[in-house]
Amino acid sequence: MASQENSTKQEKRIRADNLKAVARKIFAVAGSNARECDLLADHLIEANLKGHDSHGIGMIPAYIASLSVRELVLNATPEIISETGTTLVVEGGSGLGQTIAHDAMDLGIARAKQSGSSIVALRNSHHIGRIGHWAEQCAAQGLVSIHFVNVVAEPVVAPFGGTQARVVTNPIAIGIPRDGHEPVIVDFATSRLAHGKIRVAYNKGVAVPPGTLIDAAGHPTNDPAVLFEDPRGAILPFGEHKGWTLAFACEALAGALTGGQAIKGPVTQKAIINNMLSILIAPDRIGTAPSYLAELESMIRWVQTPAPGASPSVLLPGDPERQTRAERLKDGIPVDPASWAQIVAAGVQLGIAADVLEALASG
Ligand code: NAD
Repeated sequence: MASQENSTKQEKRIRADNLKAVARKIFAVAGSNARECDLLADHLIEANLKGHDSHGIGMIPAYIASLSVRELVLNATPEIISETGTTLVVEGGSGLGQTIAHDAMDLGIARAKQSGSSIVALRNSHHIGRIGHWAEQCAAQGLVSIHFVNVVAEPVVAPFGGTQARVVTNPIAIGIPRDGHEPVIVDFATSRLAHGKIRVAYNKGVAVPPGTLIDAAGHPTNDPAVLFEDPRGAILPFGEHKGWTLAFACEALAGALTGGQAIKGPVTQKAIINNMLSILIAPDRIGTAPSYLAELESMIRWVQTPAPGASPSVLLPGDPERQTRAERLKDGIPVDPASWAQIVAAGVQLGIAADVLEALASG
């Protein structure tokens, strides 16, 4: 494995707007309409800005691979399958997740603003990216939201107590809007590391932290290659049995309850399918907004007040992403050479000349 220092030296720094132009160009040529190109580019590059390169522009090669075998549908709209009270079952039809989840959330937001709450059971969307993005969409409208997601793709995570991969990285997000401040965004995979972060480590040739991976024999390893080269190992759940229980809940709530698919065997498709159960709550409509906002601020003051003589050090969920965003807006987004080569190759596969993408990246 190359040293972290060497791989960092070779990284490009690309301005967010230029990286968006690259994403838009690739999807415009692939066949997405202008709205879909914007939704995709905004979502992916926002993930990069927030430090989650696993869910940023580096996903494009996987999306183009799905498209090339017709397992990803461009310019799709979510279809309401049933509407009971304020519960919506929505079919994603393998549509591009950045469009499908955006539009499905808009449906839920409208109902929650009217009735105080809504549940959106979204099934069979292509990969919906960074789940915090959907919590932010709800929080921007003043809504608290909870999102359970399962992933139907090649299993990469071993259950607690198991030695082989059986599930994927099933993420959970919670959006908590505040009064006069940016929302609190809880958003994480139920595995020790998101799969895409291990892909980034593999591409950079660097080790992952101890306790993240097991090899094919079930022994601990720090080598990300066990996820990408045979014989395959697995990622461990975070927090031992606790992460596993949440990963299981994602299968039940997002995979099974939505009418979508839970994982139940090897998956050979290229498409990364996500199902998501989202619960949206409007504090002002249910009458708790004043006390919700006041209690929240009092609690935040309490947890962030340092011990006498100590400096403030407690961050809220969402703070690290905001800090990284500010840095990357200023300094550009780091893209390692292997990831950039894969992005360019995806464009070339669609007939875009590599120097066109290099020129867009340079602005
Ligand atoms: P992570 O381990 O980086 O955890 C992120 C969460 O922890 C955020 O809420 C962040 O604000 C909070 N956090 C981090 N440091 C903190 C600190 N010091 N104090 C307080 N809060 C802190 O996230 P991850 O598990 O690597 O997930 C990365 C992304 O991958 C997420 O956006 C997730 O939605 C996405 N994901 C998507 C899929 C999919 O299938 N679509 C699957 C898995 C993961």
